[in-house]
Amino acid sequence: MTTAVADLATGSPLTVLSEEEQMFQQSVRDFAIERIRPLVHEMDHDAKMAPSLISNFFELGVMAIEVPEQFGGAGSSFFNAVLVVEELSHVDASCGVLVDVQNTLVNNAIIRWGNTDQKSKYLTMLGKDTVGAYALSEGGSGSDAFALATRAEDKGDHWAVTGRKLWITNAAEAGVFIVFANANPDAGYKGITAFLIERDFPGFTVGKKEDKTGIRASSTCELILEDCRVPRENVLGEAGKGYKIAIETLNEGRIGIGAQMIGVARGALEHAIAYTKERKQFGKAVADFQGVQFQIAQAATELEAARLMVYNAARLKDAGRPFLREAAMAKLFSSQVAEKVTSLSVQLFGGNGYTKEYPVEKYWRDSKVGQIYEGTSNMQLATIAKAIIQREAVASGVAATSSVSA
Ligand SMILES: Cc1cc2nc3c(=O)[nH]c(=O)nc-3n(C[C@H](O)[C@H](O)[C@H](O)COP(=O)(O)OP(=O)(O)OC[C@H]3O[C@@H](n4cnc5c(N)ncnc54)[C@H](O)[C@@H]3O)c2cc1C
Repeated sequence: MTTAVADLATGSPLTVLSEEEQMFQQSVRDFAIERIRPLVHEMDHDAKMAPSLISNFFELGVMAIEVPEQFGGAGSSFFNAVLVVEELSHVDASCGVLVDVQNTLVNNAIIRWGNTDQKSKYLTMLGKDTVGAYALSEGGSGSDAFALATRAEDKGDHWAVTGRKLWITNAAEAGVFIVFANANPDAGYKGITAFLIERDFPGFTVGKKEDKTGIRASSTCELILEDCRVPRENVLGEAGKGYKIAIETLNEGRIGIGAQMIGVARGALEHAIAYTKERKQFGKAVADFQGVQFQIAQAATELEAARLMVYNAARLKDAGRPFLREAAMAKLFSSQVAEKVTSLSVQLFGGNGYTKEYPVEKYWRDSKVGQIYEGTSNMQLATIAKAIIQREAVASGVAATSSVSA
């Protein structure tokens, strides 16, 4: 962490890693190749994460990367979380997103907004053996997330939360959920409140699991809350500040999705390069044809650009600099690159690429979600446009004649 910030100040190359970062990266890379890769096909087919892997993630120390050591975490940097998500995703994007949500959304929100008791209880659980989930979206509110219909009623000694959440990653495995509900609908989005909800709280149920196109081993489920009894002390941050928690955690979360997407693109491209060097047509390896070499060179260039954007956004975050625009750009671009590079990889495998006998079609399927979750590509464009247009207006000294809604 210190080295990364120093590097930023001295202008060292973005992709040069400190010794600690290299060690972290290498240990996760080895783990992904040796322990995850043999399970990938079966987990995708069965749409189920191997429980042994989840235990391994805790043992490896990747479920609480930024959590301070006093609560049992690694006390490390956000950049290391990004490296972990990339390394896991280059073998399996479902493993990547499980660890990503735990670190960049759930732990992050509690580190930032939790009080001492909440940190001591929940961060300790999340670093030891408990998976976390982050529940904002609903059937009627996706891009328009703050139109959520889940309600929280103040019952004096507790809160009663009622509603349905949709698309919740990690829900099948999670023991702790950060759930957003509106505690004061008259105040609009300023009524939104974040609650820490445990799986066995009365009135809380995990519902139907989605049968998805990609990241099939990552669970995505509905949550049903019927007068769910939440202790008063389980409000995260303050009542009415949930919108701020959601905005700020998702800003960081997007960099994690960027990391997942560069991992996915890299994994597919590695397979494609190996295949084209082996596969012979017209008496020589397919990789010997300049037409194929140029396609690979273009893909590698776009992947490198995406990686620089993701690493830069993560380093900015660790350095305490503004990173909103850079995070949105990194997520937007890396998810586009992932779809393009994985599609090319299928192409370079020819007919074999279109079958489940070979690994690349899965990368292609896994890539698509990068343009959907944690804000669709259009929502990233809206964030980027807003940041640029406001900044340009301020920089040129021209007052904006119309405001952009919050
Ligand atoms: C696999 C998966 C896992 C997920 N995990 C989680 C999770 O853990 N927690 C969670 O809270 N949510 C999660 N989500 C939900 C995800 O964040 C939403 O699906 C996403 O925000 C899009 O919302 P929507 O599906 O309702 O699409 P909609 O908002 O209905 O969008 C439909 C289309 O309209 C476009 N659109 C909408 N509004 C505008 C606009 N103003 N301008 C231009 N275009 C617009 C969108 O870009 C999109 O193309 C997950 C989703 C998936 C698929």
